[in-house]
Amino acid sequence: WANAPVHLRAVLEGSRGQEGATALVYGEERMSHADYFRSAAAFARRLADDYGVAKGDRVAIAMRNYPEWVIAFFAAAGIGAIVVPLNSWWTGGELEFGLTDSGAKVLVADAERIERLAGAPQRLGIAVVAVRTPGPLPAGTRAWPDVLGEVPGDAALPEADLAPDDPATIFYTSGTTGVPKGALGSHRNMIANIMASSYARHRAIMRLGLELPEAQEFLGALPPPVILCVVPLFHATGAQTVMLPALATGGTLVLMYRWDAEAALRAVQRERVTAITAVPAMISQLLAAPRLADHDLSSLLVLSSGGAPAAPALVRRARGRLHELLLAQGYGMTECSATATVNGGSDYLLRPDSAGVPVATVDVKVVDPAGAELPPGEVGEVWIRGPGVVLGYWGRPEATAETFTDGWLHTGDLGRIDEEGFVYIVDRAKDMIIRGGENVYCAEVEAAIHEHPAVGEVAVVGVPHEVWGEEVGAVVRPLPGHRLEEADLRDHLDGRLASFKIPAHIRIAGHDLPRNAAGKLLKKRVKEEQGWDA
Ligand code: ATP
Ligand code: MG
Repeated sequence: WANAPVHLRAVLEGSRGQEGATALVYGEERMSHADYFRSAAAFARRLADDYGVAKGDRVAIAMRNYPEWVIAFFAAAGIGAIVVPLNSWWTGGELEFGLTDSGAKVLVADAERIERLAGAPQRLGIAVVAVRTPGPLPAGTRAWPDVLGEVPGDAALPEADLAPDDPATIFYTSGTTGVPKGALGSHRNMIANIMASSYARHRAIMRLGLELPEAQEFLGALPPPVILCVVPLFHATGAQTVMLPALATGGTLVLMYRWDAEAALRAVQRERVTAITAVPAMISQLLAAPRLADHDLSSLLVLSSGGAPAAPALVRRARGRLHELLLAQGYGMTECSATATVNGGSDYLLRPDSAGVPVATVDVKVVDPAGAELPPGEVGEVWIRGPGVVLGYWGRPEATAETFTDGWLHTGDLGRIDEEGFVYIVDRAKDMIIRGGENVYCAEVEAAIHEHPAVGEVAVVGVPHEVWGEEVGAVVRPLPGHRLEEADLRDHLDGRLASFKIPAHIRIAGHDLPRNAAGKLLKKRVKEEQGWDA
């Protein structure tokens, strides 16, 4: 990588001529790296010639995890346009916000998104390319196959003058704490994350007991990865920790229409999948799948979680239900192009409550409210620096100035770093509960509740209280087929947590807890559902 051109076009060029290697799998559909390159090159040509897309123009994508998502992403980035992945869970109004907020010139969308938008692109003067949309199309809309036309065997990318620090993407944050913000990422940011994730793999493999030369040999001898994408491509996790490393390493990306634990297990067996990166809730559903043991999962080498706190109990459950494989968790966010820290292999087994150590490209520090660095062990705000930290928020100079100072990204997360450099994320600053002046970190209480074997999901939130300011509340969803009573949980927590941290209110939920498209708990909605928002 040291001498490689640091932009996404180079990643795409890497697939050129690779006829024998499979790049994309979607159900019965398969595409070689060479074909995927040719389609992306042909689409890039059409974007430039038919739609006049030039460097810096925004091209929005709004669809399910179809192969066309990947092709459109690399086609646009390959000619220097800024790709704007939109959340496919968004309503028509939210999609329209994404289009106007980013000032998109072209939208590549599937049938459901086009219907939801109800003519908004036409009103806004945005050209639409319709993917997998049967039937008559609205004005100003052309079908993907018509736009692509016959793909020539020697399709090549149109000329483009790209520099590493040119903007390449606007990924929206998950909107867990408010309105999603567009993070403007450069080509360098994207490449930094690819490097970070391959380094993390090295480190985790070295921690299995191999020395560096052995680890390199071991990695070199491994066939290219086959990565199952179970998360949406429109968020940093899907695009940056799953899609980019899969394609940049000559590997295979296996796409699914929607998350489904049984379908994921079938895909692992059928495609001999080697790695899955998922949000923790998906991993717990995988582990709880009744037919887990009926599948041949022997190809799976790496199972990692990220994007939300993973309860330490998850590690034990995975060890109990799966063959020996590399378990990992990563911590990061849209604003640092996905990965900041990784905990994998034996490190993770020893410290299942840690988010791991910073990846090679990242510096992490913990600071007090004045921005002064805190000593090991003390909890403060986590700040991140490195080539993955994005250029800023698109069109939000004030938010950018507040969040990015002197190259440091203020994450809004609370954490601590131990003497050995392991990072522990204890809460989002916005979620921390203050009970009568005592701080209660949600992650600690949630982890203790997860230790109970019947617990499937838990959300710990603050409940307003006249005297204490806030009290601790917990909503617990039992695992399917398990019974759970408040009294069992109280017995379980007694002695595990200091009494002021034991939830004053415990509710057993009869339905799954509310989550957004990134698989994150919507704590605001949990509070509303329980009447705890007053
Ligand atoms: P928004 O910024 O719009 O409110 P969001 O913060 O959920 O949404 P993302 O960028 O997708 O948007 O998520 C990053 C956040 O997810 C982190 O700041 C952190 O709070 C949380 N997170 C990610 N990974 C982990 C992890 N391993 N452990 C704990 N929290 C995590
Ligand atoms: Mg955030």
